[in-house]
Amino acid sequence: MKTIDFSKYSSIKIGGIHKIEIIDDIDISNEKYTIIGGANNILISNNPPTMAKLSKAFDYIKIKDGFLHIGAATPSGKVLSFAKKNDLSNFEIMQKLPGTIGGMTKMNAGLKEYEIFNNLVAIKTAKGYVEKKDINYSYRHTNISSIVYEAVFEIGRGFNDELLNYFKKLRINQPKNPSAGSCFKNPKEDFAGRLLQECGLKGYRVNHAAFSQQHSNFLINLKNATFDDANKLIHIAKKRVYEKFGIELELEIAIL
Ligand SMILES: Cc1cc2nc3c(=O)[nH]c(=O)nc-3n(C[C@H](O)[C@H](O)[C@H](O)COP(=O)(O)OP(=O)(O)OC[C@H]3O[C@@H](n4cnc5c(N)ncnc54)[C@H](O)[C@@H]3O)c2cc1C
Repeated sequence: MKTIDFSKYSSIKIGGIHKIEIIDDIDISNEKYTIIGGANNILISNNPPTMAKLSKAFDYIKIKDGFLHIGAATPSGKVLSFAKKNDLSNFEIMQKLPGTIGGMTKMNAGLKEYEIFNNLVAIKTAKGYVEKKDINYSYRHTNISSIVYEAVFEIGRGFNDELLNYFKKLRINQPKNPSAGSCFKNPKEDFAGRLLQECGLKGYRVNHAAFSQQHSNFLINLKNATFDDANKLIHIAKKRVYEKFGIELELEIAIL
């Protein structure tokens, strides 16, 4: 058991102090917990479920049987360094994409057409390996409903510096304030940021929670934002976008 202050631990710096179970072994009984990774895509409510986190035992990168086996607690920065050092392709996306392999797999994290699932082979759960073909996934979505302990990837040769620079450029307009990344998923053939902007929500704030001036779809914490501030902002945005465009914005951030 560990105590985590989510106003410090989470990337958006919102949330209370909660007791978290630490998982050292793969066991079906762990499924009773809501699993967290690096907390880069979550907003902790005033009443979160019982949470758990994988221990360092799941922070590893191994080459086995011609595949890359990465523990779900492994941070993206470590994977990127490993790929660079070993001249491997397909992990350039991890440049400034904060999180753990577990969180990224569950979210099918990515940028443009580059997504974690592109070169994923399988995930390891308490019931064994599940192949990609048996997982339902799409843009920022998977139907993974169990704890991911490991992800297995194809090994591609040749780290691509050009691609890395392309990702770096895409990040230039990203706000520096604490956030949880994009607040809403982009609706089909549109951009959540554009819709929010058209509704006059760029820079709009509720106390210390705001949609960034730099990037409307980033819900940022200006200083001491609370869950209630962020939640109120989310509700205002959904309502205004629905009223103006008839589009129901879907959250990318997971509220726990
Ligand atoms: C500045 C910034 C920029 C970002 N840019 C992008 C971007 O370009 N593209 C993008 O896709 N995302 C982006 N994000 C969001 C975030 O980086 C990703 O969603 C990442 O996958 C979160 O990983 P995490 O370990 O922090 O997961 P968490 O935030 O801890 O959890 C996210 C979800 O995954 C689940 N989860 C976590 N670990 C596991 C596990 N082991 N097994 C099963 N489920 C698990 C959680 O229950 C939760 O539902 C950004 C975030 C920030 C703060």
